[in-house]
Amino acid sequence: MNDIQRELLDIVTQVRTHLEYRKALGVNSIEQLHAETASPTSVNAPYAANAQQTSAATGENISESVKPAESQSEGLGAVRAELGECTRCKLSRGRKTIVFGEGNPSAVLMFVGEGPGYEEDQQGRPFVGAAGQLLTDIIVKGMKLRREDVYICNIVKCRPPDNRNPEQDEIEACEPFLIRQFQAIKPKFIIALGNVAAKTLLKTKEGITSLRGRWHTYQGIPLMPTFHPAYLLRNPADKKLVWEDIKKVLAKMERVQKG
Ligand code: SF4
Repeated sequence: MNDIQRELLDIVTQVRTHLEYRKALGVNSIEQLHAETASPTSVNAPYAANAQQTSAATGENISESVKPAESQSEGLGAVRAELGECTRCKLSRGRKTIVFGEGNPSAVLMFVGEGPGYEEDQQGRPFVGAAGQLLTDIIVKGMKLRREDVYICNIVKCRPPDNRNPEQDEIEACEPFLIRQFQAIKPKFIIALGNVAAKTLLKTKEGITSLRGRWHTYQGIPLMPTFHPAYLLRNPADKKLVWEDIKKVLAKMERVQKG
């Protein structure tokens, strides 16, 4: 492939990524894309914005003709099928396996990490290395849940080289699929593991040290940021802080369960 072909491929990939991102936010037609471009909505409020739109031409409520993303419930299988053998970003070049996510497809609690590491890339499963064992301990020994009761996935689904942080273009390319995983699972609680997950979901530049331990919301879902298990392997003294965060999640889950 020559330079021009490579450049063209990059442009096509970027356009496709952008359209998929908009589709995941509920923009399903060219008209709606125009309207959305003319009056951009917050990434954090796409459902509300879509639900309130009215067609200028027909006066018809768009929420009836073009369903908002939230009501476009599709199974995880459909999301995985559309992801396919994804080459939407450059992480595809170095990966062995796409690590889509695993767990209960209607989990109440969803963990979101940063990206697969070496073991995850080898096995095609999230959090199966040393950090994964620690996360499993938090779920099983700490929360008294089974790993298969919750859903576990990452911001990006392919391993960044040398376990570096995913870059912004990679996050944006992969995020539509994460959004659709949320839409399919409809968790009641989210735990964001580490800086990348917390910053991406909360659209903030604030770091995990100040974000953790406090409730936030993602698309109306309560979200607790906490340290990534890989960080805890390097800084075991901070396990107690994570336990404080987990206890807050357990307390809220219990309150909701009791109604
Ligand atoms: S990280 Fe996501 S967008 Fe990039 S190639 Fe992998 S699955 Fe596709």
